[in-house]
Amino acid sequence: MSFEKLGLSEKLIKAIDECGYTQPTPIQEQAIPVVLMAKDVVGLAQTGTGKTASFTLPMIEVLQDGRAKARMPRSLILTPTRELAAQVSENFDTYGKYTKLNMALLVGGVSMEEQVKKLDRGVDVLIATPGRLLDLFERGKILLNDIKILVIDEADRMLDMGFIPDIEKIAGLLPFTRQTLLFSATMQPEIRKLTEKFLSNPKEISVSAPSSTAVNVEQFIVRTSQKSKNDVLAALIAEENVTNAFVFCNRKRDIDGLTTYLKKKGYRARALHGDMVQKARSETFDAFKAGEVDLLICSDVAGRGLDVSDLSHVFNYDVPFNADDYVHRIGRTGRAGKTGKAYMLVTKSDDKYLDAIEILTKQKLKEAGENKASTSNDKAQEDKVIPDKKASTKKTSRRPKAEVKKPVQQDEQHYKKAVQHKDSQDSGDDDSSDSKGFGDEMPAFFSNK
Ligand code: AMP
Repeated sequence: MSFEKLGLSEKLIKAIDECGYTQPTPIQEQAIPVVLMAKDVVGLAQTGTGKTASFTLPMIEVLQDGRAKARMPRSLILTPTRELAAQVSENFDTYGKYTKLNMALLVGGVSMEEQVKKLDRGVDVLIATPGRLLDLFERGKILLNDIKILVIDEADRMLDMGFIPDIEKIAGLLPFTRQTLLFSATMQPEIRKLTEKFLSNPKEISVSAPSSTAVNVEQFIVRTSQKSKNDVLAALIAEENVTNAFVFCNRKRDIDGLTTYLKKKGYRARALHGDMVQKARSETFDAFKAGEVDLLICSDVAGRGLDVSDLSHVFNYDVPFNADDYVHRIGRTGRAGKTGKAYMLVTKSDDKYLDAIEILTKQKLKEAGENKASTSNDKAQEDKVIPDKKASTKKTSRRPKAEVKKPVQQDEQHYKKAVQHKDSQDSGDDDSSDSKGFGDEMPAFFSNK
């Protein structure tokens, strides 16, 4: 199956080619034609499956021929985090480079002034986090009655973050006749209810069993104690061939301490969490993507949607309290046909959370081999496998410099199939050197179903 066969126009195909994509991923193959037919879609897909392009590509195709009026965006994409919003907008930039769509990003933590100016100029694609959007709406800076396409991305994360009431409120402000696309890695009953309430006879597309983890991510647990976690993690990092990694902590207060600890060990580590101002968050993530930072010590704010090509490892410093978060965290690696490794430090008191993850992902997580730091709860044994400071430092200094490739911005291409929106009341309309094609390397995960 080629992208041309999906009904995408030349401008989009050109941009896709430049991304190096040789064929659509299963979610793209199934979703793009349906979106182009103006039907509602429920997409059950994990990050890393090419899900973002499955809606950005057909949206560009549909929207490229129209023009937006001031303060009246024509499409709206809701995302749970600012980082994810930024990433979706990068997709539009990449795939839409040969079209002239106006896009605005409405996220919290940055000045409203620029955002309002953009809205005034007319916006075809509005990418927003729910809070900032409602804020601007309540200030009368934006009108939502020309929205023809609504995308709710990472709906399960929206649920976890308590955004569902906001989503309901926003959906109530949009025209009744519109196209709605909802994406989620998992389909809890609350998400199901949301789809029943806001989508009309949607086509359900699932590319992997909900809550499954990518087969191209090798997963291990390492038994340890709370006290030994820092040392065990440092030993693991030193032993593994880590190019770059996300290290997830459950608590923000642990993030800074761990970052300082790893820096002292000689690693280029930086913290990323929701208490940081947006500017610092963006700078940190950009530095990581540019290869200036090798270890990103983060909260779940980085767990969803953030896309770094070739992330070699994910370390769960803590077992997440919410089993879904495990799926998202480890989904940061093993993306787009690449392989990755995920390690999780487990203490005795984590057993119930570990059980929940194993039940959700229908697998028994292997303990890392004897050579992988600690494999026992026994403190004495743990201490034995932790390298002494000298050894660890030595190893660190020999580490090859991280080779983070420039992030692959996802393909945004414009689709030309002008979809007839029944409600269009007004005239309105309107990395990469490495191949991103899965080719023979298409992992089983991508072809799942
Ligand atoms: P996503 O699931 O949207 O976060 O996408 C994960 C990664 O897959 C991103 O780095 C995309 O650039 C990449 N990608 C998207 N579509 C394709 C494709 N058809 N072939 C190869 N890589 C892709």
